[in-house]
Amino acid sequence: MDPVGVAAAPPPETGPGPAWRSKCPWGAPNTTSISCSLADVMSEQLAKELQLEEENTVFPEVVAVAEGPFIAGENIDTSSDLMLAQMLQMEFDREYDAQLRREEKKINGDSKVSISFENYRKVHPYDSDSSEDEVDWQDTRHDPYRADKPTTTPRKGFIGKGKDITTKHDEVVCGRKNTARMENFAPEFQVGDGIGMDLKLSNQVFNALKQHAYSEERRSARLHEKKEHSTAEKAVDPKTRLLMYKMVNSGMLETITGCISTGKESVVFHAYGGKSATEDKVIPPECAIKVFKTTLNEFKNRDKYIKDDYRFKDRFSKLNPRKIIRMWAEKEMHNLTRMQNAGIPCPQVVILKKHVLVMSFIGQDQVPAPKLKDVTLSSEDMKKAYYQVLNMMQQLYKECNLVHADLSEYNMLWHDGKVWLIDVSQSVEPTHPHGLEFLFRDCRNVSQFFQKGGVAEALNERELFNAVSGFNITADNEVDFQAEIEALEKMNEDHVQNHGKKLSMFSSDGDPPIYDE
Ligand code: ADP
Ligand code: MN
Repeated sequence: MDPVGVAAAPPPETGPGPAWRSKCPWGAPNTTSISCSLADVMSEQLAKELQLEEENTVFPEVVAVAEGPFIAGENIDTSSDLMLAQMLQMEFDREYDAQLRREEKKINGDSKVSISFENYRKVHPYDSDSSEDEVDWQDTRHDPYRADKPTTTPRKGFIGKGKDITTKHDEVVCGRKNTARMENFAPEFQVGDGIGMDLKLSNQVFNALKQHAYSEERRSARLHEKKEHSTAEKAVDPKTRLLMYKMVNSGMLETITGCISTGKESVVFHAYGGKSATEDKVIPPECAIKVFKTTLNEFKNRDKYIKDDYRFKDRFSKLNPRKIIRMWAEKEMHNLTRMQNAGIPCPQVVILKKHVLVMSFIGQDQVPAPKLKDVTLSSEDMKKAYYQVLNMMQQLYKECNLVHADLSEYNMLWHDGKVWLIDVSQSVEPTHPHGLEFLFRDCRNVSQFFQKGGVAEALNERELFNAVSGFNITADNEVDFQAEIEALEKMNEDHVQNHGKKLSMFSSDGDPPIYDE
């Protein structure tokens, strides 16, 4: 039978090529140049669609594919079709949920007992991002135990005397407690205002509800996992892809060829640069697009870098997760700019859009420069690299007022006969409460790498620390050295507490440099 309506499979790719080619949502880089591909047209429509959505969030009843040129090219890019379908589905889900919310409201009215349609929603609360910019990062849930002290039952199991005796099995007390306990179910589980209306739940009912809440929690976790998995497969979520499409559509980027790296916290793509909208800005011929992952879990353990960074302190507590991730991208941009100004070899910032950072590509013809850990250098180059790294660490500290905080052979690239520093979203100023500890860790990595690499002149980690920071810690063993570092950090913190500013000892020549960012 003739498979009518089924698109013919593209011819299998021949010749060697990076593994991403087969998986990449953009497919292999196009060698035949098309002045206006369908992908571009599609993306324009999608961009309009999103714009409509942004402008008209209250009544999103606008038909998405309404206008705009539609060119039926011979070269149909199915990934765009998929993308379009996903966007439409997203729109549909959102409308569906909005309708659900309206009905929920209509049914509930002012009634004290409310019915929740939460479990019927298409967009899982975790995944929705339309309204969360207004939601605070802090958990403001009411704690039923702290607010209005419930009567406690002592160890012996009862209070009162004779006829007035109240045991812990008392129905009313127990019922109220059960109602209050319900608030401890997963946050997304709607329990209604049981406390407010003095609802008393029997143990049996409570246990049934608890079971239900747990299984719901598991169900939604599974759902979430599935979604996460699917985004990992396509590297980025639809919104991010749209953001990237827009960059291509505006002409800023020529094409996005594929994915260079998928890490825990970011996905990096290669792109050919296009034309800048403004005359004064030049887009590099090849770009790297770093997409900070918008799934939070990986970022939780990075709190310590940003929470205590005074540059971001005021903002941190007020932010929601998505904004915090944008802040990582913003931090990387600022730090790269500082480094660029100091003349340290590093990617040059092109543009930052939300959690997507475009910078110059270190490498050539789509091949990224190798990491220092992957390259075999002659002993001469190794020595050269060492001195360069030592120099850069000093520059970073003194001129940029920064500590890399994740410096190792994994975040140094070898390109054009020199070392390039990358991955600076977590970099902090030396006066960060843990800044010197981070520096010491960096020194340990660098020192070990070059000592193992056969550079006889390489300073040990403690010497390197002193050489970079300008301190003169004399401890001759790791433990004492570390203790002195922590003492210095503490001294600085105490000073901040008492005087509201950092100690000047952290910068050898007066105040830290001021950067015009
Ligand atoms: P992560 O936080 O995931 O480690 P990185 O910034 O280190 O993020 O980027 C991951 C990888 O992507 C790097 O190891 C490097 O191979 C590649 N990469 C990142 N930025 C660039 C760039 N500007 N040019 C070339 N390759 C890059
Ligand atoms: Mn890295």
